[in-house]
Amino acid sequence: MLQEFNYLAPKSKNELYALLKKYSGKARILAGGTDILVELHNQWAAPEYLIDIKKIGDFQGITFDEKEGLSIGAATVCVDLINDKNAKKHFPLLVDAAHNIGSPQLRNRATIGGNLCTASPCADMGCSLLALNASVELGSEDGTRIILLKDFFTGPKKTQIKKHEILQRIIVPVEMAGARFGMQKLKRIKGHDIALVSVAMARTSKVLRVGIGSCGPTPVVTEDLPARASLRAAVKAVEKVVSPIDDVRASKDYRLFMTRQFVEKIYRELF
Ligand SMILES: Cc1cc2nc3c(=O)[nH]c(=O)nc-3n(C[C@H](O)[C@H](O)[C@H](O)COP(=O)(O)OP(=O)(O)OC[C@H]3O[C@@H](n4cnc5c(N)ncnc54)[C@H](O)[C@@H]3O)c2cc1C
Repeated sequence: MLQEFNYLAPKSKNELYALLKKYSGKARILAGGTDILVELHNQWAAPEYLIDIKKIGDFQGITFDEKEGLSIGAATVCVDLINDKNAKKHFPLLVDAAHNIGSPQLRNRATIGGNLCTASPCADMGCSLLALNASVELGSEDGTRIILLKDFFTGPKKTQIKKHEILQRIIVPVEMAGARFGMQKLKRIKGHDIALVSVAMARTSKVLRVGIGSCGPTPVVTEDLPARASLRAAVKAVEKVVSPIDDVRASKDYRLFMTRQFVEKIYRELF
């Protein structure tokens, strides 16, 4: 059963900033609700206020700029990313990643910002956006700041977002437009399921980068490798950043083994 909470639905960024400041520590953001409503239902969280951001136009939609790259409003749902012409043309890896999230019902509701802010090690947008060297824009009454996604995750369910801040948009740099890519997700079942291991690789003429999910406390990414890095170098770079654990869904050894398999499979496809 859901416990009682006060529902707030600001219509502008400034109204939201003021609410976040006023109810700092007592409020949580509500986007698609596919994660937070589960938390509330199970009584893992009991915020006094839920602040719905879906009515704020600034956080919706996707644009492409020749200099900056792709800008994804934090409250954009997965289906809108999947159908976006610029995402399909310039960053098809993101379209694949969003396709991997849950079921059609879920993809119509779940937002890209929510997927990152939940900060689950297995969040599907995490490893693909890391492979593309994405940044996130955080905002509050104090102004906005942009940080690299690789610095955003600080632990399971933990991010750099301060209590009075909001994730406003995700920026995918133009240098990664047209990158060759591959993504693999290991699940327990054929239908929709969260990842036991996920690997996303992106390669341009200059750089090769691998993002990995479910193999550490947060989604992780390798250092930037030269575009022509050997498979051995790519595997080595991956092994340097992953730290899988044994848990109810898979053993550490199995995760490590499958990570290497996926890296090899995607690498061979890209070279
Ligand atoms: C049945 C089921 C299957 C699922 N399958 C998958 C899967 O295959 N892959 C996968 O990756 N995930 C999966 N999920 C998890 C979930 O759907 C995603 O993480 C989703 O993208 C979360 O987005 P949301 O908009 O629903 O977030 P919400 O539930 O609204 O919010 C999630 C968290 O982020 C915070 N938040 C949201 N937006 C912002 C923002 N802009 N700024 C600051 N904080 C914010 C909220 O306060 C909350 O803590 C599944 C969930 C369910 C219930």
